[in-house]
Amino acid sequence: MAISFIGEKANNMFTCTTHSPEETEGLAELVGKRIREGTVLCLVGDLGAGKTLFVKSLARTLGVEGSVTSPTFNLMHVYDGICPIYHFDLYRLKREEELDEIGFYEYTENAQDSEGLVIIEWPDKFPSCMPKDYVEVRIVQTGETERALTFSSVGTYYDKFVKELEAFVHLGH
Ligand code: ADP
Ligand code: MG
Repeated sequence: MAISFIGEKANNMFTCTTHSPEETEGLAELVGKRIREGTVLCLVGDLGAGKTLFVKSLARTLGVEGSVTSPTFNLMHVYDGICPIYHFDLYRLKREEELDEIGFYEYTENAQDSEGLVIIEWPDKFPSCMPKDYVEVRIVQTGETERALTFSSVGTYYDKFVKELEAFVHLGH
């Protein structure tokens, strides 16, 4: 896994390049060792980028034993790990109002004070419905088995977390 650091202007942003699904799983494992309840993590990337693979490995690291699959049809899955994990996939969501119907805002509003971890695939389908603060993981397919994963904090709340994560990922690899 290669890590590149993006200079001064975005010091709460860093990119890791992985060369296989296993490397992406390894990276998600490192994130899982740091991430805790009260975090909203949004995964951006095209179909096949590796969002669900990342979530699976992250969930395993957080102690989830059952199957972890993308909640494409019912929009949300809940897993029992060291904390509850709420996994949303907005890919098939058609109307903004459906978010209200599935109780989305109950998980994202005041998420920082909650006892769960919120993970959202396809946040970019309804950008105006996303919380003010979240950790973004943007996955870009740069080769057949190569992916660039860029971590950043949107808003300010997770700035410190992303900085710490950068240091941890750097050490852990
Ligand atoms: P998404 O949820 O973004 O649509 P998935 O995680 O379901 O994507 O699928 C990603 C696919 O890409 C998997 O089949 C995985 O094996 C493959 N793949 C190949 N190289 C990588 C890599 N470096 N990182 C993640 N996935 C990869
Ligand atoms: Mg997916």
